[in-house]
Amino acid sequence: MSAKIAIIGSGPSGFYAADTFAKKLPDYHIDIIERLHTPFGLVRAGVAPDHQGTKNVTRQFERTMQNENVRFIGNVEIGRDVSYGELKELYDIVFLAIGAAKDRKLGIAGEDLKGVYGSAAFVGWYNGHPDWVELSPQLGPDGVAIIGNGNVAIDIVRVLAKSSEEMEGSDLCVHAEDAIRRTNIKDFYMIGRRGAAQAAFTPSEANELGHLAHCHPVILNDDLTQAPAEDDPKDQKNKEKNMEILRGLASQERADKEKTLHMQFWAKPIAILGETNVEGLRLERTTLVDGRVKGTGETFDIKVSTVISAIGYDTNGFDDLPMDGSIVKNNDGLVEEGVYVAGWCKHGPQGTIPTNRKESMEMAKIAIENYNGPSDKAGPNGLDKLLTDRGVTPVDFENWKRLETDENNRAREGRVREKIVHF
Ligand code: NAP
Repeated sequence: MSAKIAIIGSGPSGFYAADTFAKKLPDYHIDIIERLHTPFGLVRAGVAPDHQGTKNVTRQFERTMQNENVRFIGNVEIGRDVSYGELKELYDIVFLAIGAAKDRKLGIAGEDLKGVYGSAAFVGWYNGHPDWVELSPQLGPDGVAIIGNGNVAIDIVRVLAKSSEEMEGSDLCVHAEDAIRRTNIKDFYMIGRRGAAQAAFTPSEANELGHLAHCHPVILNDDLTQAPAEDDPKDQKNKEKNMEILRGLASQERADKEKTLHMQFWAKPIAILGETNVEGLRLERTTLVDGRVKGTGETFDIKVSTVISAIGYDTNGFDDLPMDGSIVKNNDGLVEEGVYVAGWCKHGPQGTIPTNRKESMEMAKIAIENYNGPSDKAGPNGLDKLLTDRGVTPVDFENWKRLETDENNRAREGRVREKIVHF
């Protein structure tokens, strides 16, 4: 009898765990259960459309799917179609890799105005996530403020500021491309509540800001002389590199670029202004006191029509899954006997695909060490019966491969695919 494993979520953490189970266990059956019709989680709906190289990891996931003991079961939502309790009854190991898809709130006045979006929604919109394709964001007539100094903030700046030609080779969805081209946004504001030396973005992403054909970056309120201080030597190195890159950006010739990226450091949003629609953003200048961000009391306003917060995400739980605030409650990845968690739902939205890969594989190895041998649990047959009884129609990997072919065939000139976004 084989080990019966359910992996919930088909993003990188889920697939890397599947690969580890498949390589390390002699006899197994793995069901990768996914809420959407399409696999690959953030690789499809989060990674920027102009970062196609990053998406190449799916080739490895495809190889995992060639294994006849691994199934992709799309269009099945835990908590709606199958309960958490049922999963535990059906499978020997339940491995949760459900990510973090819920936008964190800024918690300031005006957050409900039209024109305010969280980055999960906004990125989901331009990347064709079925939950967000109808977002129809307000873009213009004035600028866009993006709150946060992480890589997601930079992704959003690039996607909005790049021309159609610069998006060559991308998979930016047509609905988003049309909307972006209809606007003529001249001013982008990237708001950091701390300084350049503390920014969360990484050097290669910062560097891309210096290569936008039509958008000139301007550094505001930071003289770029502060020495970064991090406990982790790798972070320290990244931050030093960031400072070097930002100094390079600050000395760049403006040329005749008609758009401006205002990199506003040391400012925190305190209110979004407007009656019905966003008309501006009120910021308070900040300083660090004992390592913590403090407002100085000095405020200023910027005129924008859109505010996008890129400040991180929380995990959406389901029925009686134990939660600990914004993550799944766990003890070093163990949720309860036979249930494990990895990736952003384990520790919050931190880390890149490679860092989460390592962690997910290690977690799968721990699950294997703790596995007590075959049980008489119903596994895949039990799941199939339950779904049939409930009239749920799952989709398999073959279905995805057909969709993918359609998407590739539908690609507009200069684009690698045109995603199918309605199911
Ligand atoms: P992030 O890296 O954690 O950055 C979040 C930013 O939001 C930080 O600058 C943070 O400032 C700021 N922030 C948080 N709460 C705030 C508030 N209330 N008001 C103002 N600012 C606030 O998050 P992310 O950009 O969403 O990225 C998530 C993860 O995905 C990261 O590990 C990132 O590297 C990764 N990612 C990687 C890539 C890539 O490799 N190309 C692309 C996208 C995302 P403080 O630092 O002061 O807290």
